[in-house]
Amino acid sequence: MYDYLIIGHGLAGAVLSQKLLERGQKIMVLDEPSNNHSSVVAAGIFNPITGRKMFKTWKANQLFPELMNFYPSLETKLKAKFYHPIGVYRPYFAIEDQNDWEAKKSDAKFESYIEQATTSNTSTHQLHDPYGGLFLKQAGYVNIVKLLNANKNYLIDKGSYRETMFYEKELKHEGDCFSFGELNFKKIIFCNGIHAHSSEWFQWLPFHPVKGELIDVELNKRPQTIYNRGVFMLPFDGGHIRVGSTYHHRFDNMEPTEEGQNELKEKLGGLLKESYKIKGSRAGVRPATKDRRPFIGKHPDNEHIYVFNGFGSKGVSLIPHCSKQLVAYLLDGEALDTEIDVSRYYSHYPARSKK
Ligand SMILES: Cc1cc2nc3c(=O)[nH]c(=O)nc-3n(C[C@H](O)[C@H](O)[C@H](O)COP(=O)(O)OP(=O)(O)OC[C@H]3O[C@@H](n4cnc5c(N)ncnc54)[C@H](O)[C@@H]3O)c2cc1C
Repeated sequence: MYDYLIIGHGLAGAVLSQKLLERGQKIMVLDEPSNNHSSVVAAGIFNPITGRKMFKTWKANQLFPELMNFYPSLETKLKAKFYHPIGVYRPYFAIEDQNDWEAKKSDAKFESYIEQATTSNTSTHQLHDPYGGLFLKQAGYVNIVKLLNANKNYLIDKGSYRETMFYEKELKHEGDCFSFGELNFKKIIFCNGIHAHSSEWFQWLPFHPVKGELIDVELNKRPQTIYNRGVFMLPFDGGHIRVGSTYHHRFDNMEPTEEGQNELKEKLGGLLKESYKIKGSRAGVRPATKDRRPFIGKHPDNEHIYVFNGFGSKGVSLIPHCSKQLVAYLLDGEALDTEIDVSRYYSHYPARSKK
Protein backbone atom coordinates (compact mmCIF):
# COMPACT_ATOMS: atom_id res chain seq x y z
CA MET A 1 0.00 0.00 0.00
CA TYR A 2 1.45 3.37 -1.02
CA ASP A 3 1.05 6.42 1.22
CA TYR A 4 0.72 8.76 -1.78
CA LEU A 5 -0.07 8.43 -5.46
CA ILE A 6 1.27 11.48 -7.34
CA ILE A 7 -0.32 12.24 -10.71
CA GLY A 8 2.17 14.04 -12.97
CA HIS A 9 5.94 14.24 -13.15
CA GLY A 10 6.46 17.82 -14.26
CA LEU A 11 8.57 20.00 -11.98
CA ALA A 12 5.81 20.02 -9.33
CA GLY A 13 5.41 16.23 -9.11
CA ALA A 14 9.18 15.66 -9.29
CA VAL A 15 10.08 18.05 -6.45
CA LEU A 16 7.16 16.87 -4.31
CA SER A 17 8.21 13.25 -4.82
CA GLN A 18 11.63 14.03 -3.31
CA LYS A 19 10.17 15.91 -0.34
CA LEU A 20 7.85 13.00 0.49
CA LEU A 21 10.61 10.40 0.10
CA GLU A 22 12.82 12.45 2.44
CA ARG A 23 10.10 12.04 5.07
CA GLY A 24 10.04 8.26 4.63
CA GLN A 25 6.74 8.13 2.71
CA LYS A 26 5.99 5.31 0.28
CA ILE A 27 5.04 6.92 -3.03
CA MET A 28 4.19 6.09 -6.62
CA VAL A 29 4.39 8.70 -9.40
CA LEU A 30 2.36 8.22 -12.59
CA ASP A 31 3.18 10.31 -15.64
CA GLU A 32 2.41 10.35 -19.33
CA PRO A 33 5.31 12.55 -20.56
CA SER A 34 3.81 13.28 -23.98
CA ASN A 35 1.16 15.30 -22.12
CA ASN A 36 3.72 17.65 -20.56
CA HIS A 37 3.16 21.13 -21.96
CA SER A 38 5.02 23.28 -19.47
CA SER A 39 8.05 21.91 -17.60
CA VAL A 40 9.69 20.42 -20.70
CA VAL A 41 9.28 23.70 -22.62
CA ALA A 42 10.14 26.21 -19.86
CA ALA A 43 13.33 28.24 -19.86
CA GLY A 44 13.65 27.51 -16.14
CA ILE A 45 14.77 31.02 -15.15
CA PHE A 46 14.61 32.26 -11.56
CA ASN A 47 14.90 36.00 -11.21
CA PRO A 48 14.10 38.04 -8.08
CA ILE A 49 13.24 41.31 -9.92
CA THR A 50 10.63 40.72 -12.62
CA GLY A 51 8.25 42.47 -15.00
CA ARG A 52 8.66 45.57 -17.13
CA LYS A 53 8.52 47.76 -14.02
CA MET A 54 11.05 45.57 -12.23
CA PHE A 55 9.22 44.66 -9.03
CA LYS A 56 10.63 42.35 -6.40
CA THR A 57 8.92 39.01 -6.95
CA TRP A 58 6.36 37.74 -4.41
CA LYS A 59 7.98 36.31 -1.24
CA ALA A 60 11.47 36.57 -2.81
CA ASN A 61 13.19 36.74 0.59
CA GLN A 62 11.80 33.31 1.47
CA LEU A 63 11.71 31.64 -1.95
CA PHE A 64 15.18 32.48 -3.23
CA PRO A 65 17.29 31.28 -0.25
CA GLU A 66 15.22 28.07 -0.31
CA LEU A 67 15.66 27.39 -4.01
CA MET A 68 19.40 28.16 -3.84
CA ASN A 69 19.71 25.53 -1.18
CA PHE A 70 17.29 23.01 -2.65
CA TYR A 71 18.46 22.58 -6.27
CA PRO A 72 22.20 22.09 -5.52
CA SER A 73 21.38 19.49 -2.86
CA LEU A 74 19.06 17.74 -5.33
CA GLU A 75 21.91 17.73 -7.88
CA THR A 76 24.09 15.91 -5.35
CA LYS A 77 21.36 13.40 -4.57
CA LEU A 78 20.51 12.72 -8.23
CA LYS A 79 24.15 12.92 -9.43
CA ALA A 80 23.20 15.33 -12.21
CA LYS A 81 23.97 18.94 -13.18
CA PHE A 82 20.97 21.18 -13.84
CA TYR A 83 21.30 24.25 -11.55
CA HIS A 84 23.01 27.29 -13.12
CA PRO A 85 23.26 30.44 -10.93
CA ILE A 86 24.54 32.79 -13.68
CA GLY A 87 22.87 36.11 -12.81
CA VAL A 88 20.70 38.43 -14.93
CA TYR A 89 21.54 41.74 -16.59
CA ARG A 90 18.49 44.01 -16.99
CA PRO A 91 19.28 47.04 -19.20
CA TYR A 92 17.05 50.04 -18.43
CA PHE A 93 14.33 51.02 -20.91
CA ALA A 94 14.78 54.76 -20.23
CA ILE A 95 16.70 57.35 -18.24
CA GLU A 96 13.85 57.38 -15.70
CA ASP A 97 14.64 53.74 -14.81
CA GLN A 98 18.26 54.68 -14.25
CA ASN A 99 17.28 57.54 -11.91
CA ASP A 100 14.83 55.31 -10.11
CA TRP A 101 17.36 52.51 -9.48
CA GLU A 102 20.21 54.85 -8.55
CA ALA A 103 17.93 55.89 -5.69
CA LYS A 104 16.70 52.37 -4.87
CA LYS A 105 19.89 50.31 -5.25
CA SER A 106 21.01 50.66 -1.63
CA ASP A 107 17.49 50.19 -0.22
CA ALA A 108 17.66 47.18 2.14
CA LYS A 109 14.69 45.67 0.24
CA PHE A 110 16.72 45.25 -2.96
CA GLU A 111 20.35 45.32 -1.84
CA SER A 112 20.80 41.57 -1.55
CA TYR A 113 19.64 41.05 -5.15
CA ILE A 114 21.76 43.73 -6.85
CA GLU A 115 25.29 42.88 -7.86
CA GLN A 116 25.86 46.20 -9.60
CA ALA A 117 23.89 49.10 -11.09
CA THR A 118 25.56 50.75 -14.08
CA THR A 119 24.74 54.14 -15.61
CA SER A 120 26.34 53.61 -19.03
CA ASN A 121 26.36 50.82 -21.57
CA THR A 122 28.15 47.54 -20.79
CA SER A 123 31.49 46.71 -22.32
CA THR A 124 30.11 43.84 -24.43
CA HIS A 125 28.71 46.16 -27.16
CA GLN A 126 26.33 43.30 -27.86
CA LEU A 127 23.28 45.15 -26.55
CA HIS A 128 21.30 48.34 -26.97
CA ASP A 129 21.74 49.57 -23.39
CA PRO A 130 22.55 53.30 -23.54
CA TYR A 131 21.34 53.92 -19.97
CA GLY A 132 23.13 51.00 -18.32
CA GLY A 133 21.14 48.62 -16.15
CA LEU A 134 20.99 46.29 -13.19
CA PHE A 135 23.11 43.18 -12.72
CA LEU A 136 21.09 40.88 -10.47
CA LYS A 137 22.35 38.08 -8.28
CA GLN A 138 20.38 35.19 -6.74
CA ALA A 139 19.29 34.58 -10.35
CA GLY A 140 19.96 31.95 -13.01
CA TYR A 141 18.18 28.95 -14.47
CA VAL A 142 17.40 25.28 -13.89
CA ASN A 143 17.60 22.88 -16.84
CA ILE A 144 14.26 21.29 -15.99
CA VAL A 145 14.47 18.53 -18.60
CA LYS A 146 17.74 17.30 -17.10
CA LEU A 147 16.25 17.46 -13.60
CA LEU A 148 13.18 15.47 -14.70
CA ASN A 149 15.27 12.78 -16.43
CA ALA A 150 17.53 12.36 -13.40
CA ASN A 151 14.59 12.30 -11.00
CA LYS A 152 12.71 9.79 -13.13
CA ASN A 153 15.72 7.42 -13.10
CA TYR A 154 16.01 7.84 -9.33
CA LEU A 155 12.32 7.02 -8.83
CA ILE A 156 12.50 4.04 -11.20
CA ASP A 157 15.37 2.63 -9.10
CA LYS A 158 13.16 2.94 -6.03
CA GLY A 159 10.17 1.31 -7.77
CA SER A 160 8.28 4.62 -7.44
CA TYR A 161 7.59 5.68 -11.06
CA ARG A 162 5.39 4.39 -13.86
CA GLU A 163 5.08 5.89 -17.31
CA THR A 164 1.36 5.62 -17.79
CA MET A 165 -1.77 7.67 -18.13
CA PHE A 166 -3.98 8.01 -15.05
CA TYR A 167 -7.74 7.87 -15.73
CA GLU A 168 -10.01 9.25 -13.01
CA LYS A 169 -12.88 7.02 -14.11
CA GLU A 170 -10.80 3.97 -13.17
CA LEU A 171 -10.13 5.20 -9.63
CA LYS A 172 -11.83 3.04 -6.98
CA HIS A 173 -12.43 4.10 -3.40
CA GLU A 174 -13.21 1.82 -0.45
CA GLY A 175 -13.10 3.19 3.09
CA ASP A 176 -9.69 4.83 3.58
CA CYS A 177 -8.12 3.09 0.61
CA PHE A 178 -7.98 3.93 -3.10
CA SER A 179 -7.02 1.71 -5.97
CA PHE A 180 -6.06 2.32 -9.59
CA GLY A 181 -5.42 -0.94 -11.44
CA GLU A 182 -3.32 -3.05 -9.08
CA LEU A 183 -1.99 0.01 -7.20
CA ASN A 184 -3.39 0.60 -3.70
CA PHE A 185 -2.78 3.86 -1.89
CA LYS A 186 -4.06 6.07 0.92
CA LYS A 187 -3.93 9.53 -0.64
CA ILE A 188 -3.67 11.06 -4.08
CA ILE A 189 -2.00 14.35 -5.07
CA PHE A 190 -2.78 15.91 -8.43
CA CYS A 191 0.29 17.63 -9.95
CA ASN A 192 -1.20 17.47 -13.43
CA GLY A 193 -0.56 21.04 -14.66
CA ILE A 194 -3.01 22.36 -17.27
CA HIS A 195 -4.77 18.97 -17.38
CA ALA A 196 -6.50 19.93 -14.13
CA HIS A 197 -9.10 21.67 -16.30
CA SER A 198 -10.38 18.26 -17.43
CA SER A 199 -10.27 16.74 -13.93
CA GLU A 200 -13.53 15.98 -12.18
CA TRP A 201 -11.87 16.83 -8.87
CA PHE A 202 -10.32 20.23 -9.56
CA GLN A 203 -11.68 21.67 -12.80
CA TRP A 204 -13.80 24.20 -10.84
CA LEU A 205 -10.66 26.09 -9.77
CA PRO A 206 -10.02 29.41 -11.56
CA PHE A 207 -7.10 28.38 -13.73
CA HIS A 208 -5.94 30.88 -16.34
CA PRO A 209 -3.65 29.00 -18.77
CA VAL A 210 -1.15 31.18 -20.64
CA LYS A 211 0.52 30.01 -23.83
CA GLY A 212 4.20 30.88 -24.25
CA GLU A 213 6.58 30.61 -27.21
CA LEU A 214 10.39 30.54 -27.31
CA ILE A 215 13.01 30.51 -30.05
CA ASP A 216 16.54 29.10 -29.94
CA VAL A 217 19.10 31.30 -31.69
CA GLU A 218 22.80 31.11 -32.53
CA LEU A 219 25.06 34.13 -31.93
CA ASN A 220 28.71 34.80 -32.73
CA LYS A 221 29.48 35.55 -29.11
CA ARG A 222 27.79 33.62 -26.32
CA PRO A 223 26.68 35.81 -23.37
CA GLN A 224 27.89 34.73 -19.91
CA THR A 225 24.76 35.92 -18.17
CA ILE A 226 21.01 36.16 -18.86
CA TYR A 227 19.91 39.39 -20.57
CA ASN A 228 16.39 40.60 -19.95
CA ARG A 229 14.48 43.58 -21.34
CA GLY A 230 11.21 42.92 -23.13
CA VAL A 231 12.53 39.43 -23.84
CA PHE A 232 15.13 37.30 -22.09
CA MET A 233 18.22 35.84 -23.77
CA LEU A 234 19.38 32.75 -21.91
CA PRO A 235 22.73 31.04 -22.72
CA PHE A 236 21.25 27.57 -22.27
CA ASP A 237 23.56 24.61 -21.71
CA GLY A 238 23.80 22.73 -24.97
CA GLY A 239 24.87 25.75 -27.00
CA HIS A 240 21.94 27.83 -28.18
CA ILE A 241 20.61 31.05 -26.75
CA ARG A 242 17.00 30.61 -25.69
CA VAL A 243 14.86 33.70 -26.32
CA GLY A 244 11.39 34.19 -24.86
CA SER A 245 8.72 34.27 -23.98
CA THR A 246 5.38 35.37 -25.31
CA TYR A 247 2.26 35.54 -23.10
CA HIS A 248 -1.06 34.72 -24.77
CA HIS A 249 -4.28 34.08 -22.87
CA ARG A 250 -6.23 33.18 -26.01
CA PHE A 251 -4.95 30.37 -28.18
CA ASP A 252 -6.36 27.49 -30.19
CA ASN A 253 -3.31 25.24 -30.39
CA MET A 254 -0.14 24.45 -28.45
CA GLU A 255 2.28 24.77 -31.37
CA PRO A 256 4.83 27.49 -32.19
CA THR A 257 3.33 30.09 -34.57
CA GLU A 258 4.64 32.61 -37.07
CA GLU A 259 3.04 35.43 -35.02
CA GLY A 260 4.84 34.25 -31.89
CA GLN A 261 8.15 34.10 -33.70
CA ASN A 262 7.65 37.59 -35.19
CA GLU A 263 6.82 39.03 -31.78
CA LEU A 264 10.03 37.59 -30.31
CA LYS A 265 12.13 38.77 -33.28
CA GLU A 266 10.81 42.29 -32.89
CA LYS A 267 11.53 42.41 -29.16
CA LEU A 268 14.94 40.82 -29.63
CA GLY A 269 15.78 43.53 -32.20
CA GLY A 270 15.19 46.13 -29.47
CA LEU A 271 17.74 44.47 -27.19
CA LEU A 272 20.40 42.82 -29.36
CA LYS A 273 22.70 44.72 -31.74
CA GLU A 274 24.17 41.81 -33.68
CA SER A 275 22.64 39.41 -36.19
CA TYR A 276 21.58 35.88 -35.24
CA LYS A 277 20.31 32.65 -36.77
CA ILE A 278 17.09 30.98 -35.60
CA LYS A 279 17.71 27.30 -34.86
CA GLY A 280 14.35 26.19 -33.50
CA SER A 281 11.14 27.15 -31.79
CA ARG A 282 8.97 25.70 -29.03
CA ALA A 283 5.67 26.45 -27.34
CA GLY A 284 3.89 25.42 -24.17
CA VAL A 285 1.11 26.42 -21.80
CA ARG A 286 1.75 27.69 -18.27
CA PRO A 287 -0.62 26.39 -15.56
CA ALA A 288 -1.38 29.91 -14.34
CA THR A 289 -4.20 31.03 -12.05
CA LYS A 290 -6.46 34.08 -11.99
CA ASP A 291 -5.01 35.46 -8.73
CA ARG A 292 -1.43 34.48 -9.70
CA ARG A 293 -0.99 32.26 -6.65
CA PRO A 294 -0.73 28.46 -6.64
CA PHE A 295 -3.54 26.08 -5.65
CA ILE A 296 -2.35 23.84 -2.83
CA GLY A 297 -4.18 21.65 -0.37
CA LYS A 298 -7.17 19.42 0.19
CA HIS A 299 -10.23 18.82 -1.94
CA PRO A 300 -13.29 20.43 -0.27
CA ASP A 301 -15.19 17.13 -0.03
CA ASN A 302 -12.50 14.49 0.26
CA GLU A 303 -9.67 14.51 2.78
CA HIS A 304 -7.69 11.95 0.76
CA ILE A 305 -7.44 14.04 -2.40
CA TYR A 306 -5.03 16.97 -2.82
CA VAL A 307 -3.92 19.49 -5.42
CA PHE A 308 -0.42 20.90 -6.01
CA ASN A 309 -0.72 23.10 -9.06
CA GLY A 310 -1.02 26.63 -10.48
CA PHE A 311 2.65 27.61 -10.54
CA GLY A 312 2.20 29.81 -13.61
CA SER A 313 5.42 31.31 -14.97
CA LYS A 314 7.40 30.90 -11.75
CA GLY A 315 7.49 27.17 -11.06
CA VAL A 316 11.26 27.08 -10.50
CA SER A 317 11.16 29.56 -7.62
CA LEU A 318 7.76 28.61 -6.14
CA ILE A 319 7.84 24.82 -6.16
CA PRO A 320 10.64 24.14 -3.59
CA HIS A 321 8.98 26.41 -1.00
CA CYS A 322 5.41 25.29 -1.75
CA SER A 323 6.28 21.58 -1.64
CA LYS A 324 7.86 22.11 1.78
CA GLN A 325 4.62 23.73 2.92
CA LEU A 326 2.45 20.93 1.54
CA VAL A 327 4.55 18.23 3.21
CA ALA A 328 4.44 20.06 6.57
CA TYR A 329 0.66 20.34 6.13
CA LEU A 330 0.22 16.65 5.29
CA LEU A 331 2.62 15.13 7.80
CA ASP A 332 2.89 17.64 10.66
CA GLY A 333 -0.57 19.21 10.58
CA GLU A 334 0.87 22.70 9.93
CA ALA A 335 -1.36 25.31 8.29
CA LEU A 336 -0.72 26.37 4.69
CA ASP A 337 -0.16 30.06 3.90
CA THR A 338 -3.63 31.43 3.25
CA GLU A 339 -2.47 32.95 -0.07
CA ILE A 340 -1.68 29.52 -1.54
CA ASP A 341 -4.24 27.39 0.29
CA VAL A 342 -6.83 26.11 -2.18
CA SER A 343 -9.50 26.58 0.50
CA ARG A 344 -9.65 30.26 -0.58
CA TYR A 345 -11.73 28.95 -3.51
CA TYR A 346 -13.94 26.41 -1.75
CA SER A 347 -16.92 28.67 -2.44
CA HIS A 348 -16.36 27.98 -6.19
CA TYR A 349 -16.80 24.25 -5.72
CA PRO A 350 -20.14 23.39 -7.37
CA ALA A 351 -21.40 21.18 -4.51
CA ARG A 352 -20.87 24.08 -2.10
CA SER A 353 -21.78 27.06 -4.25
CA LYS A 354 -25.33 25.61 -4.65
CA LYS A 355 -25.81 25.51 -0.85
C1 LIG B 1 7.12 29.00 -22.70
C2 LIG B 1 7.25 28.80 -21.21
C3 LIG B 1 8.33 29.37 -20.54
C4 LIG B 1 8.44 29.21 -19.15
N1 LIG B 1 9.54 29.73 -18.53
C5 LIG B 1 9.67 29.59 -17.20
C6 LIG B 1 10.81 30.12 -16.54
O1 LIG B 1 11.71 30.69 -17.16
N2 LIG B 1 10.88 29.98 -15.18
C7 LIG B 1 9.91 29.32 -14.45
O2 LIG B 1 10.02 29.24 -13.23
N3 LIG B 1 8.83 28.80 -15.07
C8 LIG B 1 8.69 28.92 -16.41
N4 LIG B 1 7.60 28.39 -17.04
C9 LIG B 1 6.54 27.80 -16.21
C10 LIG B 1 6.89 26.41 -15.71
O3 LIG B 1 7.02 25.59 -16.83
C11 LIG B 1 5.78 25.90 -14.80
O4 LIG B 1 5.57 26.78 -13.69
C12 LIG B 1 6.09 24.52 -14.21
O5 LIG B 1 6.94 23.79 -15.02
C13 LIG B 1 4.80 23.76 -14.01
O6 LIG B 1 5.08 22.45 -13.61
P1 LIG B 1 3.92 21.41 -13.28
O7 LIG B 1 4.60 20.17 -12.83
O8 LIG B 1 2.91 22.04 -12.38
O9 LIG B 1 3.14 21.18 -14.66
P2 LIG B 1 3.58 20.37 -15.97
O10 LIG B 1 4.96 20.65 -16.35
O11 LIG B 1 2.53 20.65 -16.99
O12 LIG B 1 3.50 18.86 -15.54
C14 LIG B 1 2.30 18.15 -15.40
C15 LIG B 1 2.58 16.70 -15.68
O13 LIG B 1 1.41 15.93 -15.41
C16 LIG B 1 1.28 14.95 -16.43
N5 LIG B 1 -0.12 14.54 -16.48
C17 LIG B 1 -1.23 15.33 -16.56
N6 LIG B 1 -2.35 14.57 -16.54
C18 LIG B 1 -1.93 13.29 -16.42
C19 LIG B 1 -2.61 12.03 -16.34
N7 LIG B 1 -3.95 11.95 -16.35
N8 LIG B 1 -1.87 10.89 -16.26
C20 LIG B 1 -0.51 10.93 -16.22
N9 LIG B 1 0.19 12.10 -16.30
C21 LIG B 1 -0.51 13.25 -16.39
C22 LIG B 1 1.73 15.71 -17.68
O14 LIG B 1 2.08 14.82 -18.72
C23 LIG B 1 2.94 16.44 -17.14
O15 LIG B 1 4.11 15.66 -17.22
C24 LIG B 1 7.46 28.49 -18.42
C25 LIG B 1 6.41 27.89 -19.11
C26 LIG B 1 6.30 28.04 -20.48
C27 LIG B 1 5.15 27.38 -21.20
